[in-house]
Amino acid sequence: MSQVMEKRTSEELMNLESKHGAHNYHPLPVVLSRGEGVHVWDVEGKQYYDFLSAYSAVNQGHCHPHIVNAMIEQAKTLTLTSRAFYNDSLGEYEEFVTRFFGFDKVLPMNTGAEAVETAIKLCRKWAYEVKGIAENDAKIIVCENNFHGRTTTIVSFSNDPVANKNFGPYTPGFIRIPYNDIAALKQAFATHKNIAGFLVEPIQGEAGVFVPSEGYLSEAHAVCQENGALFIADEVQTGIARTGRLLAVDHENVKPDILILGKALSGGAYPVSAVLSDDHIMNVIKPGQHGSTFGGNPVAAKVAIAALEVVQNESLADNAERLGVIFRAEMEKLAQKTDLITKVRGKGLLNAVLINDTEESETAWNLWVAMKDNGLLAKPTHGNIIRFAPPLVMTEEQLMECVSIIEKTFLAYQK
Ligand SMILES: *Cc1c(COP(=O)(O)O)cnc(C)c1O
Repeated sequence: MSQVMEKRTSEELMNLESKHGAHNYHPLPVVLSRGEGVHVWDVEGKQYYDFLSAYSAVNQGHCHPHIVNAMIEQAKTLTLTSRAFYNDSLGEYEEFVTRFFGFDKVLPMNTGAEAVETAIKLCRKWAYEVKGIAENDAKIIVCENNFHGRTTTIVSFSNDPVANKNFGPYTPGFIRIPYNDIAALKQAFATHKNIAGFLVEPIQGEAGVFVPSEGYLSEAHAVCQENGALFIADEVQTGIARTGRLLAVDHENVKPDILILGKALSGGAYPVSAVLSDDHIMNVIKPGQHGSTFGGNPVAAKVAIAALEVVQNESLADNAERLGVIFRAEMEKLAQKTDLITKVRGKGLLNAVLINDTEESETAWNLWVAMKDNGLLAKPTHGNIIRFAPPLVMTEEQLMECVSIIEKTFLAYQK
């Protein structure tokens, strides 16, 4: 039917969403219809560099043929059995992914938020059945300005009023402390009994690519160990080569007790998330106690193997590390030429520039529109931060072209 329908314009398509879709997003006004590698095209055929990568889900680049082929082949063969039966892809994937990340076991889910929920349930159950905390007393420490997803429990421990206002009553059992503050973590353990774990983003992505001080993750991990609590790393955004290592915790040689993955685990082709841990933790989950109809389906299994093969075969972590150094150096140079930029920060290809204006200002938004007109899609957050996170398959030549687009836009910008 879509073939015989006349092609709609961007304007018409945006109006359709506005009229018929819930208004739970406020997208930037560009309507994309195709993607390949580091590029996307809008319905009018204009080409852009993608500097968001679907919040780091598309690390392997848009429509990577190795991933898409794996998906098509499996989709033609068997898509879903539910976990009521075995399927011939899941075990192979579970062996592959646990070896890839160095854990005994994986629990497969679909979205990032579901994987965070899974980690919380796993941590609590472990606390009661292994650590010996009295039932319903377990607490999990989280950080200020965290972003872990959108479920009722997860928004319960968010301090963003946009995320949680009027969604109460909130799930109890969480203690919120400042991020990047070891003293506060130690203080929390000293004040509260019954702490089961510490849930943390190795870099706070949604908060505006906030990179903690060097040593924070390894010290926090050590504090958890001393106190017999689980260190739970939410690497949904930072994992899978984004920050220049396979995992962001690898920068500090930390092995989390529980690792949460999502987004680029499928290269953006399909919703695939995972929780990994060793047997002494994962074995507390018994049949019937947790699950998901789609979790661990054969298409997800094949797509995730292919997505991780791309990361390895194309050395995406090394490329992210190398290009990240170049990108930040170029942005520092640009900051010398304009007073629009007050700070450049990030790791690998997860970077942000802070704009010389208030959170309420429209400067970052206006700069975004100007960059879009010049062929580059980034994402402003908080009104005065622009996040730059291109697919990791980018070449140095492409990166330099993007740098010149950014430079041209910033230098031409008049407040
Ligand atoms: C995106 C994200 C999530 C949630 O993932 P969804 O797939 O959107 O549910 C959780 N944690 C972090 C750190 C994220 O960036």
